[in-house]
Amino acid sequence: MHKASRVNQANISITATRWCNRRCTHCYIDPAELGNPYQMHESVFRSVFDSVAELVALDTGLEEVEWELIGGEITKLPVEYWERNLPYALNRCREFNAGFKTPGSINVLTNLIFANDKHRGEYVDLFNKYGDWPEMAIYTSWEPDTNRFGKNLKLMAPWAETVRSINARQKILDVILTKTTVAMGPDYLLETFLPLGITDFSIKMISPYGSGRTFWQPNMVSFKEMSDYLCRLFDIAPPGITFTPADEMSGAVFRGTSYQCIGNFRYDLAVEPDGLTTFNANQTTDEAALGDRKIYVGDKDWAYRVLADNTQELDNKLSRYHSYCFQCEFHSACAGGWYHYRIAEPADVRAWDSDDCPGYKQLWTKVKDRHGSFDPVQARHNAEMNSLVLMAQAPSRPTVHLEEPVESGPGFSDWLKETQGGSVKVLARCVYEKPIIQRIWAYQAVGTSTTIADDDVFALSSAEQRVLIEHLVYRDLPSTTVSARAVWTWVDTNPGDPLADLIARAEDDLLSKGLSSSDILVAGHNTELVRWVLRHSRRSADEEGHSTLHPLVGQLSRHLYLEDRAKARFDRRRLSH
Ligand code: SF4
Repeated sequence: MHKASRVNQANISITATRWCNRRCTHCYIDPAELGNPYQMHESVFRSVFDSVAELVALDTGLEEVEWELIGGEITKLPVEYWERNLPYALNRCREFNAGFKTPGSINVLTNLIFANDKHRGEYVDLFNKYGDWPEMAIYTSWEPDTNRFGKNLKLMAPWAETVRSINARQKILDVILTKTTVAMGPDYLLETFLPLGITDFSIKMISPYGSGRTFWQPNMVSFKEMSDYLCRLFDIAPPGITFTPADEMSGAVFRGTSYQCIGNFRYDLAVEPDGLTTFNANQTTDEAALGDRKIYVGDKDWAYRVLADNTQELDNKLSRYHSYCFQCEFHSACAGGWYHYRIAEPADVRAWDSDDCPGYKQLWTKVKDRHGSFDPVQARHNAEMNSLVLMAQAPSRPTVHLEEPVESGPGFSDWLKETQGGSVKVLARCVYEKPIIQRIWAYQAVGTSTTIADDDVFALSSAEQRVLIEHLVYRDLPSTTVSARAVWTWVDTNPGDPLADLIARAEDDLLSKGLSSSDILVAGHNTELVRWVLRHSRRSADEEGHSTLHPLVGQLSRHLYLEDRAKARFDRRRLSH
């Protein structure tokens, strides 16, 4: 269930204004804000890119950036604003992409509803001027049930004409799975919108914030009905027409790439028109996820402060999931499905998940059946060998060893700066109120290695121990050292916990001839856990001799042997220089 390295993308929502010409009933924005005429100053707009560049340089786990130009309604701003700033954004995106394996886009979100033809024509011309840039993606929404198109959908026909008149390589239709859209079916979607030149559909669930909070439950359908809809769309979509989430799922199962379109971004930052930075782009004003103090673009140490204050959201993404996700084969990519329902009241979600889940397991299975899946055992070995090579190539510097302050100390973001690239002894209780797992995510992000002594592990609450052990055995914390004794003590003292039982059973069963090919332990999603048990087995060398009896155990043992041998070779070389 290794998942930390897959949560590697920032979504940066630059909200140029919150003002909007519509009042859609599902909107996640505080309705009061939709009348706020304040517009983002151009200097703030441009400095967002500089600030994010600092964050990319700082956070070793941040490998992709997607950008949203969003409101409210961005066409409220004079077209001249975007004539200057859209090409600026596209060029900056191109610069960022030069350093990434997976390129991001400037995603321009607009309702394409205009008061008059002049205004409409100016914006269509602007979008068409940049429509063939690979970085440019234009998004608009089809919403038959949210008041988007007014009484009797009278705004839909002119909207459709505007959509048709836009020439862009990436012309994407946002669709929310509600009772009405699901009832209309995916055939309607293709028949109605492909003729308008739509190339991709971005299909999401309702975000329960703003006026969307009251829209949510009355307009929900079961996850099974949503899955059926998406599976049918997967079957009938013509070649070249893609849709989210299936497109990202294909990469995740076939190549092991990340899957964050469900809101599971490493950072989901909104930059408000005044530069205020918040940590869940679907929450505004009183609902906004803020840091310890308000952070504005341009603040000194913005990147350190954002990294330090994002840990609550990041940990939600890495650690929170529904109980039935624990041994799901898709967990390491899916992580528990639509993010906003993982942090919602469970009772509001349980009502809808009797035959499928908020991750659409039925669709995952279908995607896997069509595309096949990558080999997680070999992929893990390759990743370990690559990281050994990178470590061997890194210039060796004296490491600063520090211990977390107990009585008083600098603010956490300043402490991160002080400890960056060094080594920290992490304590069960220290001056920082941030939970231990969140502090570890932050240390790991800035390249600081961590050690936790046994006594500190035992002094943690049972919930803190559980989450720490789970991330350790699934290799989400490669730069954290905890003794095997501490982990085995936790396993021995927590019988009945599904994770403890799995680790305990692994110790017994991996050495037995009776392990069947369908056993959960030989399923790919447990690769890291099985490797941990083999590496830290309490069995005698004599008993270990049987470990090659099962083919998987033999393969993993060989990988571990090769990695140990390579590490010893690199260590010898380093010492001799
Ligand atoms: S597919 Fe469903 S059960 Fe599996 S991890 Fe995702 S939400 Fe959980």
